[in-house]
Amino acid sequence: MENLSTFSIGGVHPDDRKISRDCPIEVLPLPDKVFVSMAQHLGAPAKPLVVPGDTVKVGQLIAEPGGFISACVHSPVSGTVKSVGLREDLAGNKVTHIEIVVEGDKWEESIDRTPDLVTELPEDKAWILDRIKQNGVVGLGGATFPTHVKLAPPPGKTADFLLINGAECEPYLTSDYRVMMERGAEVLVGAALMQKALDGPRCIIGIEENKPEAIDHLSELLSGLADRNPAYRHIEIRPLKKKYPQGGEKQLIDALTGRQVKSMGLPIDVGAVVQNIGTTLAVYEAVQKNKPLITNVLTVTGDCLPVERQHNYLFRIGVPLSFIMEQAGGVPEGAEKIISGGPMMGKAVARVDATTVKGSSAILYLTGEQTLRRPEGPCIRCGRCADACPMGLEPFLLKKLAEAGDFTALEKNAVHDCIECGCCQYSCPANLSLLDTIRIAKGDMLRIIKSRPKN
Ligand code: SF4
Ligand code: SF4
Repeated sequence: MENLSTFSIGGVHPDDRKISRDCPIEVLPLPDKVFVSMAQHLGAPAKPLVVPGDTVKVGQLIAEPGGFISACVHSPVSGTVKSVGLREDLAGNKVTHIEIVVEGDKWEESIDRTPDLVTELPEDKAWILDRIKQNGVVGLGGATFPTHVKLAPPPGKTADFLLINGAECEPYLTSDYRVMMERGAEVLVGAALMQKALDGPRCIIGIEENKPEAIDHLSELLSGLADRNPAYRHIEIRPLKKKYPQGGEKQLIDALTGRQVKSMGLPIDVGAVVQNIGTTLAVYEAVQKNKPLITNVLTVTGDCLPVERQHNYLFRIGVPLSFIMEQAGGVPEGAEKIISGGPMMGKAVARVDATTVKGSSAILYLTGEQTLRRPEGPCIRCGRCADACPMGLEPFLLKKLAEAGDFTALEKNAVHDCIECGCCQYSCPANLSLLDTIRIAKGDMLRIIKSRPKN
């Protein structure tokens, strides 16, 4: 493919290692129990509505939003609530979880479980938004921002573009690819629903060139839908050049519209709303099937995992990671580190009994060779980290300022704009731990900015 668009600044080209791309989505069996986190979205934690001893059905509301930026949480299983209390999440933070012992698989009757594709679009935008909100849909591309809030731009702002992120630019991850290949029609209806909710902006689905089958498949499905219903004629599939981090919100907006989000700005400031493939499917299910966000697709992969043990699982949200790992045959020989997510932005798994959350996308096994931290050398001022930074930052300088604790200079050099993509560290010939140092400094900087009195 010639002259494909991509973002304009920085980026790197890691080997994409999509080993599990041909593994169809399998339904993960039900575990004995699940632990449903109250903090699996951006914003205030949800407030539990159930107590030990209550019986619940699949899809039943078990926690209500704890604030404006928050989300409903539903039971992923049927059974009895055993406990409501603090438990460590993946990052080791104590978070309220609802423990449910699984009994049978009894679903809420209001959920349409038929496989029929519903392509007719509701007219009422408020109704669409309410269904998305009531069904607890959040962004599944990483940030887990409540989707109904993102689809309601603040007064004075309008969406010119709805951009669907089908880039899946992180190496190893294949869940979005499988969803595009197996649930593509539902994804397209989900995109059209969000287009309606946003008053009809132009909708572009961006897919990297390393997924040509997904580009062809969605294009074919789209032309079939557009022939039958004009509402689907304003969706476009756009191939993108393969470059990491193409799926970053600001990078995708640049690649697909040429618009640049300013420092500390939001996508809506340039008239864009970005959603990912998993979220778009969840919107379809919420609006057309009244199904809450209780399932997602997760990739189990790694170089040390034989091909027959690679998986893309449809899992119930709240299932412990250890259960998924057992189903996939246990920790493979040669695995030295387990990552939740991709190798560039994922987080090391400290406890395998931590549970999956709405945004869980992968369990990645890394080998000793891959985790080997090579000795750090002195900075040779080669500038490769700055060339690779997609936010136009100077990582070597940020690291130096972070080590000196100079927050005035860190702010001046826009440390808060770091998207934690890891391109700088990936490019550094001196093996400097740029990302880790900058990430901590960014967290401190944001806390300082937030604590300032507002005018
Ligand atoms: S991690 Fe931050 S500083 Fe490093 S390349 Fe990415 S955006 Fe730039
Ligand atoms: S890439 Fe590494 S060695 Fe080169 S300037 Fe950046 S920090 Fe220094």
